[in-house]
Amino acid sequence: MNKQSILLISHGLFEKDFLEKIATEVAREFLLAVNIEESHIDMSEFYDPNRRQYDGNKLLIEIDSMPSSEIVKKVGLFRVDLFIPILTYIFGQAAFKGSTGIASLYRLRNEQYGMKKDDTLLLNRFAKVVIHELGHTFGLIHCHIPTCVMRSSTYVEDIDQKDIHFCLRCQTELKRKQMERKKYYKGK
Ligand SMILES: [Zn+2]
Ligand SMILES: [Zn+2]
Repeated sequence: MNKQSILLISHGLFEKDFLEKIATEVAREFLLAVNIEESHIDMSEFYDPNRRQYDGNKLLIEIDSMPSSEIVKKVGLFRVDLFIPILTYIFGQAAFKGSTGIASLYRLRNEQYGMKKDDTLLLNRFAKVVIHELGHTFGLIHCHIPTCVMRSSTYVEDIDQKDIHFCLRCQTELKRKQMERKKYYKGK
C-alpha cells in the first residue's frame, strides 16, 4: 500500500525556495509528506480569449488526469489568472472529497492591486489557498470561524484575515476524515 502523501505540481516559473516553503506549510497542516513536481503542459489549450483568463474547470480535470498513486492528493500551482464560468476569477478550487485542487497566485500579488510587491505576504496567501483547497479534497466544507483557513474568501483581504491553520473543529474533522480514508484503503 502506498503511503498517503500530497503532490504539488507547479506550472510556470516558481522559485524553488518559494515552493519548498509552501510544501513545508502544507506538510505541517496535514501531517503528510509533500512532494513537488514540475509540469510543462501547454497552457494555451486552457486559455479563453474572450475572458483573457484560464479555465479553472479544464485545468482541474487536466491535473486530475495526471498519473499518480490513488491516494495522493494533487494540487496544480499556477501563476495565471483563473476563472470558472460563474465567477469573475478564482484563487483556486478543488474537487470536494476528490483528489485534486488548483491554486494560482495571480490575484494574490500585491501588484495586482497597485500595492508594493511583498513576497512574504504572497507566500502566506498562497499557502492559505493551497491548504484551503486541499481541505476540500479531504471533505472539509467552508467554516464560519473568521480565523479558520477553511473560511471562504472572495477578496484577498479575506485571505489576510484568516490564519494559515485549521480551527480546532476543522482540525478534528480533518483527522477523522483521514482516519476514515486509511480504514477504507486497508479494507480494500
Ligand atoms: Zn473553499
Ligand atoms: Zn474551521
